[in-house]
Amino acid sequence: MAGYVTRFAPSPTGPLHLGHAFSALTAWQRAGDAGGIALLRIEDLDRSRARAAWEEQIFEDLRWLGLDWPKPVLRQSDRQAAYDAALARLAPFTYPCRCTRADIRAALNAPQEGAMGPDGLIYPGTCRHRSMNEAGPEDTIRLDMAKAMQGVAVSFTETGLQAGQFRYDANHMVQQVGDVILSRRGMGAAYHLAVVVDDAHQGVTEAVRGADLFDATPIHALLVRLLGLPEVRYHHHRLIRDDQGRRLAKRDDARAIATFRQEGATPDDIRRMVGL
Ligand code: GLU
Repeated sequence: MAGYVTRFAPSPTGPLHLGHAFSALTAWQRAGDAGGIALLRIEDLDRSRARAAWEEQIFEDLRWLGLDWPKPVLRQSDRQAAYDAALARLAPFTYPCRCTRADIRAALNAPQEGAMGPDGLIYPGTCRHRSMNEAGPEDTIRLDMAKAMQGVAVSFTETGLQAGQFRYDANHMVQQVGDVILSRRGMGAAYHLAVVVDDAHQGVTEAVRGADLFDATPIHALLVRLLGLPEVRYHHHRLIRDDQGRRLAKRDDARAIATFRQEGATPDDIRRMVGL
């Protein structure tokens, strides 16, 4: 088995843009330098937005950039059984939650509350007393952060923008991260759980991804630890921005790799545009 394994994990919900190109090229570059492999994983958890046509476009764009990957490609929509098994192992640290966004805002009416975590407003804990025995299809499943962090600190190694060892205590995790969602009602596994389960399943040793995911990384390191999975190193890279300095998003079709391609750009032009 290769010593170094990384992955590029796009969601098939729109065209790949320059930011994705930078991420993929960085992953393949690091795998090449390490004599390892780069995998492609399709993160299609949000079935309402994922489209087969976007997935095809991802394959085409990456091939055009000169990248290749082992097949078959892992799709998160095929992995619910593995996510359910992980969720069952985490049951001692989870609880079912029925709060809507409006319920959460109403519970946070005191101005000093309402801190933002990596997933938005930090959950006020309304359903924290509920037991997993009463969990049903109407429930979202949350991680009880205080319980999960009892007597432990969470740490991970970063090899990217801010290289070093990062460590977070229970206070940080409870106040700045909170009771994150592991499974969404009617949708199955949420991003944090799926990414950790899949990285372990695929033998990923280093996750290469944009700096926008840095704040979510302590959650991933914690889940790795709670599930007894092998540690992953993280390489967060700079974000590609538009002329106004805003980070690119899926809706920035003007920056889509396919658009540049239709206008006659070469893969080398794309490399230059992202500063490689
Ligand atoms: N699927 C995520 C995205 O499209 C990336 C997840 C990751 O690299 O951990 O931004």
